[in-house]
Amino acid sequence: MQRVVRAADGVRVVHVVTDEETAAACPECGVLSSSVRQRRTTRPRDLPYGEAPLAVRWHKVQYACRETACVRRAFTEQIPEVPAGARVTGRLRRHVAGRVADGLPVSTACAGVMGWPTAHAAFVAAVTAQLPDPEPVAVLGIDETRRGKPRWTRTEDGQGWVKLETFETNFVDLAGAQGLLGQASGRTKANVVAWLDERGQAWKDAVAVVAIDPCATYRAAVAEALPHARIVADHFHLVRLANQALTDVRRGVTWDLHGRRGRASDPAWARRRRLLRGYERLTPEQFTRMWNDLVDADPTSKILTAWIAKEELRRLLACARRGGHRHEISTRLHRFTPGAPTPGCPNSNGSPARSRPGGPRSKASCRPASPTPAPRPPTGR
Ligand SMILES: [Zn+2]
Repeated sequence: MQRVVRAADGVRVVHVVTDEETAAACPECGVLSSSVRQRRTTRPRDLPYGEAPLAVRWHKVQYACRETACVRRAFTEQIPEVPAGARVTGRLRRHVAGRVADGLPVSTACAGVMGWPTAHAAFVAAVTAQLPDPEPVAVLGIDETRRGKPRWTRTEDGQGWVKLETFETNFVDLAGAQGLLGQASGRTKANVVAWLDERGQAWKDAVAVVAIDPCATYRAAVAEALPHARIVADHFHLVRLANQALTDVRRGVTWDLHGRRGRASDPAWARRRRLLRGYERLTPEQFTRMWNDLVDADPTSKILTAWIAKEELRRLLACARRGGHRHEISTRLHRFTPGAPTPGCPNSNGSPARSRPGGPRSKASCRPASPTPAPRPPTGR
């Protein structure tokens, strides 16, 4: 430190010079230089100290590199705390990052000392340094998450609009206890491959199974980065697809029967949420009403057929939770596969074999679980 002067507005101005020998080393060739070209003053922002504002004036030296083999002609002093081009000291960055980590909004934590992007970068740098590299995993889950609503911003030339990236890809340890392993921006193949490659070959070799949603991008990324791993579809996404198929069937049937969208007076529309609920989460009364209403409302039986297919898929997937025994899986797979004979109830091909009238079918094969709903007297609707 050279001297401290108090400016007219009460700001203490601290004049400093470099007290680090290595600052005179050429960043290109590393040779120390004593050939001063000129002196410059920079104003790095530093941690506030005391009550009155503090301003730092760093009187830097610009050296000439005299090494004949070096391409660098001149360089200015820099120290690790304030690298070349940095306008904020390392300790101020860490201070703001700590305030963000304590839960303050970034805009509050950086107010008056640095801009939002600098504060954000400081926080990312601070937490990245503390995050351990994930340990190898045997079963890797890859899934996407959307953050907020889609947003659009002007292109740089102001002529058009560009959509901001709101998706990110999460990597999860599905068999171990590590939980969330990391995230990659967006959901492109390149980003997924880059994240996996960053882990190193030994880490990638340890991955035996990768669970993804049925998505061609992730599949391609895994095939490239983890060619040895077995790809499996995530249960959650399969059930979601089955639910979507059921909804599509319901809408299609309504159009075929009424030539319009569903409305509150349609039993199929009124029961649309119940249709998507798992069978085991319906009370016997709820199931009975849903079943009977749909038998009445849909003479094609397509909606109930789709519902049964959805529930058979869920039962097939549930085999995994019971240990994944091969005979149980093959039985369930047979039940689920379209065309498999399921006497006495609508099969997955949509050919109705209903036992109307008389309320819910009592044949166990009609339903994915056993309780036989009480027969219901015809309502004459
Ligand atoms: Zn040099």
